[in-house]
Amino acid sequence: MVRSDSAAVSGPPGRRYYGEVTVGEPRLSEDGRLEVGGEEPDEGVGKPGPTGRPMPVFPVPPALSSHGPAWVVAMCNQKGGVGKTTSTINLGAALAEYGRRVLLVDFDPQGALSVGLGINPMQFEVTVHDLLLGGDADIQDTIVETQVEGLDLLPSNIDLSAAEVLLVTEVGREHSLARTLTPVMDVYDVILIDCQPSLGLLTVNALTAADAVMVPLECEYFALRGVALLLQTIDKVRERLNSRLELAGILATMYDARTLHAREVLARVVERFPEEVFHTVINRTVRFPETTVAGEPITTYAPTSVGAAGYRRLARELMARYATPPAVG
Ligand code: ADP
Ligand code: MG
Repeated sequence: MVRSDSAAVSGPPGRRYYGEVTVGEPRLSEDGRLEVGGEEPDEGVGKPGPTGRPMPVFPVPPALSSHGPAWVVAMCNQKGGVGKTTSTINLGAALAEYGRRVLLVDFDPQGALSVGLGINPMQFEVTVHDLLLGGDADIQDTIVETQVEGLDLLPSNIDLSAAEVLLVTEVGREHSLARTLTPVMDVYDVILIDCQPSLGLLTVNALTAADAVMVPLECEYFALRGVALLLQTIDKVRERLNSRLELAGILATMYDARTLHAREVLARVVERFPEEVFHTVINRTVRFPETTVAGEPITTYAPTSVGAAGYRRLARELMARYATPPAVG
């Protein structure tokens, strides 16, 4: 269930791994960086944001004294080119900037996540493919560090498409990724899974391993086409395989406020999913394709850009939404 933002921001102490959310005065360190516990000096706070609702303050979360257990989020939309991989990299990098230990799981045989982090996925002998099939490969040896402190990658490459075929005959085939991730659950605060553009067995594995699913939607015509099917799939996985799965939220991406078209599409998305859509909307900017070429997140490639600010705000919004403890059960 998605909580109302005001309740979350002023709400009770947070899940252990996010710590308590407090709203305080912005504090800048001597080198001009934000310090934890303050507010990010966002533009437009209190004024109607792109979704039409007043933009709340999403405070900078306090530092953590320990890490884990990980909160696992599947980045999912069976449509390609909607911003799944871009959001996985940049949300992950923003969470790492806030001191969270983050693992990004490349769960698309195309390996775009690895490439976007400047890592050639074909160089690895062992990838997520080998872990899924339950050989003697060790996940800790398979994970690689990225250039961003606190941000690690579990790489995949084209071998993963073979895993999808081979898994079909395995017992417990939907639980392979969940099993694979178990040994590192206490190492990370957040694990983001970059899903492939399909609702096949790999995506079902991601949803089975996840606590929540985030759905990036491109602000273009037909953005909502297919979303009903995706939501049905999420419901089925919740009923049959993973009762804790919830919708973390819908993220509008590639938004160009100058075009009536994008504004109309976003208005339709908000009308259809008033509770689920994040206040944070990611703008369309050429900086994102540039980051893919550069092989690094926007938060380091263009740290003061609107795009970097967008993903930092998304990270804080996500932490504010989930500041209240999950149901015990
Ligand atoms: P997916 O993983 O859903 O297929 P990607 O994240 O790979 O989508 O994005 C598809 C393409 O759109 C990539 O070339 C990416 O650089 C570009 N892109 C992603 N987000 C934005 C954005 N906010 N503005 C402009 N281009 C973007
Ligand atoms: Mg992708």
